[in-house]
Amino acid sequence: MAGSGIVCQHQGEHTLTMPAPLTFSLASDVSKPRHGSLITVNRFTYCPFCATSLVERTLYGQDRPVCPACGFVQYHDPKVAVIALVTHDERILLVQRAIDPAKGKWSLPGGYMDAHERPEQALQRELMEEVTLAVDVRQLLDVFPMVLPKGGSNGIVLAFHATPADEQQVALRCQDDACDARWFLPGEWPDELAFASTEALLARWQTGWRPTS
Ligand SMILES: [Zn+2]
Repeated sequence: MAGSGIVCQHQGEHTLTMPAPLTFSLASDVSKPRHGSLITVNRFTYCPFCATSLVERTLYGQDRPVCPACGFVQYHDPKVAVIALVTHDERILLVQRAIDPAKGKWSLPGGYMDAHERPEQALQRELMEEVTLAVDVRQLLDVFPMVLPKGGSNGIVLAFHATPADEQQVALRCQDDACDARWFLPGEWPDELAFASTEALLARWQTGWRPTS
C-alpha cells in the first residue's frame, strides 16, 4: 500500500483523500475476524424505539439484534474520534485530561465527532471547547484504532495536522475535559501520556518527521 491513498466518502458530498498511513495499516486490522478482538459489542436487550425484547437474526452475514415488532436492527457502527497534532513553530499542543479515560494524563486534543459534522469541524469545535484556540485544520496524518481501556477497539481515530488560525493568538484557556494545556518542545513531553495515537505522533515528531501541509 506504500504510496497509495485511501478515499473516504463522507456524508455523500465530501471526498476526503487520505495519505497512506505512516506506521499503522487499517487495512491489515480490518482483515481480522469480524467478531474478534477488534470490535467490542454493547448489545441492546430491548428495542430503543418500542421496548420489545430483541432477538438474534442473521443479516448481511452477521448475527444482529433485531426487533420483531418494529424491525429495528442494531448495527455495530464504529465510533469516530478526531485528534489534532497542533503545531506552533516547533511546539506541540498537549492537554491534560480532566476526565477518564486516562484522567490526569496528557494527550493530543480532540474528541468524538457528531454525526452532522465533518471531521475538520469537529476538531475546530473540540479545540475551542477544550482550550479556546481557533485552528486551521490541515493534512490528515493517520488513522488509528480506538483502543478501549479493557482491550479491543470500537472505532477509529482520525489524526489531523492543525495550526493556530492566528499565530499571534496562541494563549490557552482550559475548560471542558482539559484541566491543563501547554505548548511542548520535542523532548520535553510530560511523562504520563495517554493513548497510543498520541505516543505514535509525538514519537514521529521527535525523530524529525514533519507534516507536509
Ligand atoms: Zn422495536
